[in-house]
Parts: sequence; C-alpha cells; structure tokens
Amino acid sequence: MSNIILQAKDITRTYVEGKVNTCVLKKVNLDIYSDEITAIIGKSGSGKSTLLHILGTLDTQTSGDIIFKGQNLSGFSANQKAQFRNRNLGFVYQFHHLLGDFTAMENVMMPLLIGGTDVETATRTAKENLEKVGLSHRLNYRPSELSGGERQRVAIARALAHHPDLILADEPTGNLDAQNAQDIFALFTDLVRKEHIAVVMVTHDNSLAAKCDRVYQMKDGVIDAN
Ligand code: ADP
Ligand code: MG
Repeated sequence: MSNIILQAKDITRTYVEGKVNTCVLKKVNLDIYSDEITAIIGKSGSGKSTLLHILGTLDTQTSGDIIFKGQNLSGFSANQKAQFRNRNLGFVYQFHHLLGDFTAMENVMMPLLIGGTDVETATRTAKENLEKVGLSHRLNYRPSELSGGERQRVAIARALAHHPDLILADEPTGNLDAQNAQDIFALFTDLVRKEHIAVVMVTHDNSLAAKCDRVYQMKDGVIDAN
C-alpha cells in the first residue's frame, strides 16, 4: 500500500532580476507516494531542478504549499527547514560531491558526526549503509580509487545517513554510462522495496523513466498531462 508522503499544491516560482520577472514554475501540483519511484522528466530549462529544490525545502516557492505527511512546511523558518531536511530527506546529485581526501566510510560518517551521532554509532551506520549499496568491499577506498558508479553509490549511502523517508535525486545517472545508470536505478528500486522510502528522480533517460512507478513530465514550468 502506497501513501502520499509529499504534495506540491499550486507551486509557483518567479525569479526577479532587475525589472524582469521570470515565472519558471506555474501552479505545479503533484503527489509523491511512499514505496514508489517517481520520475520527473522534461527538457532542459523546463523547471525540474527548481521544483526538486522546492520539494526539498532548499528553495522557497513564490506561492503555493509543500505538504509533507500532512504537515504544511510553508511557514517553517530556515532552522526548522534544515532540521526537517536532516530528519526526513536525502539528496543525490549528478555529481557525487564526495570529499576527495576521505574514504567511503568517512564520507558516509560525516553527516552523522556533524549531526552529533557518536563515533561508534556513526561507524556502524556507515558500514550498514555501504553494505546496502553493495560496497562492503570498498569501505576504505577514496573517491579517486572508485569507479563513477561506485562513487555515486557512496553518495547514495551518505544520503541514507539519517534514514530518510524520501530521497530527492537530480539526474543521479546523468554522469554515468548506460550500464551503470541501470545499476544505480536498480539500487534505488531495491531501496524503495526494502527500506520503504520514496525516491523522486529527475532524469533525461526515458528508458529509466518508463520503469518508474509514476512519471511527471514538465513543460515550460507546468506538469504536462500525458
Ligand atoms: P531544468 O532543471 O529543467 O533544466 P531549472 O529548474 O534549472 O530547469 O531552470 C528552469 C528555468 O529557471 C530556466 O529558464 C533557468 O534559466 C531559470 N533559473 C534557474 N535558476 C535561476 C536563478 N537562480 N535565477 C534566475 N533564473 C533561474
Ligand atoms: Mg536541472
């Protein structure tokens, strides 16, 4: 049984540059369900990243509401949003953004240690998460010693640090070859089934989108009914 975990209600986003207002999201409505992978597809510049940032409270909408498990996040302060993100969300990007001087273990432990988790617990959790992404044999490797697909797996393990309910991924396979893209997608599928999380994935890859549970297509700042 899938439940709605996140809702966007009439989301608009207008960028103001000098006297020019550019409306890049125009009353976007969508529902994200737990235990599902949702794809957001659409041409470059159609507003996908802006929408994902707003869904993740990293950017603030000009109007409209984001509802997480029935709670309206719109009135949250910056601190409340940061706390909300830490507790509930994981982020994955096209580029892994791992720290080059640190091992896979250390990269995954970092957000836990910063969040005040003790070293013993952080070590155990990081090991578990790296195991979940299939990297038990790479714990002490640095990013430069890992393949592109492996680096993205470490980034996913790091996103799992605080047991998120929802992972927001902006073109997570955009920098990978076809086989690695399939493998990362299979990993997301696995995490959704086993960890009962939701994944929202922005992608250019229509073959991956076709395998998702739900697809929203963006066109010039609106969700295209398809
Ligand atoms: P996508 O991820 O689908 O390629 P984006 O959400 O990044 O699209 O961008 C949507 C539109 O918003 C584009 O026209 C882009 O130029 C514009 N845009 C994005 N960020 C900003 C910003 N900080 N200031 C002004 N315009 C922006
Ligand atoms: Mg984008």
